[in-house]
Amino acid sequence: MQVVVVIVGNGAVGKSSMIQRYCRGVFTKGYKKTIGVDFLEKPLRILSQDVRLMLWDTAGQEEFDAITKAYYRGAQACVVAFSTTDRASFQAVKKWRKKVEDECGGSSIPMVLVQNKIDLMHQSAVTNEEVEALAQECNMRIYRTSVKEDINICNVFQHLAENYVNQ
Ligand code: GDP
Ligand code: MG
Repeated sequence: MQVVVVIVGNGAVGKSSMIQRYCRGVFTKGYKKTIGVDFLEKPLRILSQDVRLMLWDTAGQEEFDAITKAYYRGAQACVVAFSTTDRASFQAVKKWRKKVEDECGGSSIPMVLVQNKIDLMHQSAVTNEEVEALAQECNMRIYRTSVKEDINICNVFQHLAENYVNQ
């Protein structure tokens, strides 16, 4: 079984790093802007089923909107990510969620909210209360992650895959 997962959110929240970490076990400090769309695969075994996650990495910048939108259409699960230190990325969560929903033709796919860079909690631009309120309002499960410290990354994708298999 193959599950296509798109990871969306503003630029520099850690989408590409998250995919690299999860699929390749590495973290790189430098920021390389994603151009258009890229993807990596991760084989998993869930409830004695072989599942292949196809992780689509999309550019957060508006200039690539037309390219990235086409990829949302085939998505079977979605991660909406924002950064602990970037308030604008938090405020953009609903916009990203809607973009994916619109392209998926109203069929609801499993989605989770990811607050990345929790290793930088001391520079936080959001409060836990507002993050929880948003998650509740959007009816999304929240995962707090650090790609840098490798916290909670596996759980995000494990959850989505399980959700999909059980659906
Ligand atoms: P994208 O534009 O969403 O794909 O973001 P990138 O994956 O390119 O990451 C943007 C920058 O944030 C890079 O310099 C990463 O090294 C850094 N970064 C990503 N995740 C984390 C994290 O959990 N903690 C910290 N401190 N930096 C991170
Ligand atoms: Mg990127």
